[in-house]
Amino acid sequence: MTLGYKKVIQAITISLLIAIFLNGCGQRAFQQSRLLMGTLIEVTVVCRDQVQANKAIETAFQEMGRVEHLLSIYQNESPISMINNLAGDQTVMVDSEVFQILKEAIGYGKLTSGAFDLGIGPLTSLWDFGQGHIPSKDEIAAKLLLVDYRDVILNEGGEVRFGAAGMAIDLGGIAKGYAVDRAIEVLEANGVSRAMVNAGGDMRVIGRIWRIGIQHPREANSVLGILRLKDEAVATSGDYQRYFIKDGVRYHHIIDPRTGWPATDCMSVTIVAKEAAMADALATGCFVLGPKLGMELIRSLPGVEGIIVSSEGKVLASSELIKSCRFFSRDSDKGITESEYQGRI
Ligand code: ADP
Ligand code: MG
Repeated sequence: MTLGYKKVIQAITISLLIAIFLNGCGQRAFQQSRLLMGTLIEVTVVCRDQVQANKAIETAFQEMGRVEHLLSIYQNESPISMINNLAGDQTVMVDSEVFQILKEAIGYGKLTSGAFDLGIGPLTSLWDFGQGHIPSKDEIAAKLLLVDYRDVILNEGGEVRFGAAGMAIDLGGIAKGYAVDRAIEVLEANGVSRAMVNAGGDMRVIGRIWRIGIQHPREANSVLGILRLKDEAVATSGDYQRYFIKDGVRYHHIIDPRTGWPATDCMSVTIVAKEAAMADALATGCFVLGPKLGMELIRSLPGVEGIIVSSEGKVLASSELIKSCRFFSRDSDKGITESEYQGRI
């Protein structure tokens, strides 16, 4: 009798445990990665149904492919290539989506006092980071005259015109973020409520808390800290993403529109914001602005948080971000320690 009673209790306990287990595991994570926009893009969704998950992931990738066709400067047929080919001589008509993106990118130019410049194209095309090619000072000086976001002129109705022939738009500093935002929108439209889209470090998460490591700018397999984010986006711009080193100097792909040369004051900038396009553009812009002005801008913007690693290895973080991030810093004697936000790498 006692044994029977125990067995019943045991059975109830086991079934309760199974119920809890099934409930917890009823939701599974499905993930796919593909190469798009020159980077590895990872889409993760958490839901019950594999068929629904696969369909949503497929549609998200299709959407990001569509965005790439829209914004790429490497595809001759894209609206941005069309603008670059024609807008120096004539007015070019674009659809409302491209027009809105251009408007937004120009807005980040204003917000960052020109540090983020969508008209950076003439300078970025001088560099070849794969080959390690350094342009001459004269080449840079000549192209610098053609870079100014204020000379990308938009007229309502979808008209784009450049202020001078030879100008060129390069949306490399915002396109991945924009694609991530559209992918999240598509996932939600497909009934997914918990997801992460990660385009090479520019990402957005929805529906639950996700733990996200912030890449250490000098150690490939190490993180600066771990962020806990929900319904937010995060993007990092770093001098370690596309670069080469020649004669001890690091040349990388974030160009200072004031000098024409790679920006010198940061190793990396991580921005947290509601939307990935904003995080992406501000990460690039604050990288150019440098630790002091970059941090001032981050602090002035509601809903925007950030971490800046200066070129000397000083780590600065904004106050709200400190609450959601566990930092690690290297202390030469003690190894990796949890630290204050004014740390060093
Ligand atoms: P990643 O593309 O590695 O994520 P970013 O978001 O910082 O890094 O974007 C860097 C890209 O942005 C460059 O490859 C170039 O296309 C473009 N870019 C470079 N300098 C600037 C700038 N000052 N303003 C706007 N875009 C820039
Ligand atoms: Mg960017």
